[in-house]
Amino acid sequence: MSEEILKNIAVVQERIHNACKENGRNPNEVKLLLATKTVPAERVKIALQAGQTLIAENKVQELKEKYEVLKEVGHTNHFIGHLQTNKIKDLLKCNVSCIQSLDRLQLAEKLHSLLQLENRTIEVLIQVNTSHEESKFGVHPNSVIELVQQIASLKTLRIKGLMTIGLFSAETEEVRQCFRLLKDIQQEIIALKIPDVEMQELSMGMSGDLETAITEGATIIRVGTAIFGQRMYSDSYYWNERTS
Ligand SMILES: *Cc1c(COP(=O)(O)O)cnc(C)c1O
Repeated sequence: MSEEILKNIAVVQERIHNACKENGRNPNEVKLLLATKTVPAERVKIALQAGQTLIAENKVQELKEKYEVLKEVGHTNHFIGHLQTNKIKDLLKCNVSCIQSLDRLQLAEKLHSLLQLENRTIEVLIQVNTSHEESKFGVHPNSVIELVQQIASLKTLRIKGLMTIGLFSAETEEVRQCFRLLKDIQQEIIALKIPDVEMQELSMGMSGDLETAITEGATIIRVGTAIFGQRMYSDSYYWNERTS
């Protein structure tokens, strides 16, 4: 079981490497994030002990449970799931350094007030719904700039870039449009030179589409299945409004 995880990591690293090479990119520009939803802490630990450093959960409850086991192994925690305001306090106890799924002002304001009390800051990415699927979270592409401007004034939140989940489609060109849109929005925001807003990170691409994402400029790819195997729950359990 542990050998399989290590082999899978090597395969993914090779894919990243090849995609970078084909696109004239430096592999050091692309961070591999392990999406660990539904994966038991013991299996995540194998990846961390093999040298992986960046992991992310989708649900605060799972994050809490696994953090108890994983905190002894050095790693960086991001959060990539839909975040309810009543879960923020628990999330802040788990040493999360970046929330990639910030998609609404009300959540940002609540985060800000709790962070102020604790006198600390956190990195955030703005999640954009680039696929126009109703089932997916994320701010509408037309509203990203306004949201970024609003969040920029909340000094505990340090905006580092954008995140998206691409369309689920076998049509590479349709998926590519999602990633291009995210990149275009990033460029628009950079041009605005908004104070306190950094835009270096583009978190996009998963097991099935990481090559396309790297071609389009991803700096963080989020991989679950290709490393830990198929999940028992369908992703709608994590991504749909109804079930979260
Ligand atoms: C599960 C998940 C991933 C990883 O998806 P895989 O197809 O298993 O690689 C990436 N991003 C988010 C937000 C996820 O929930």
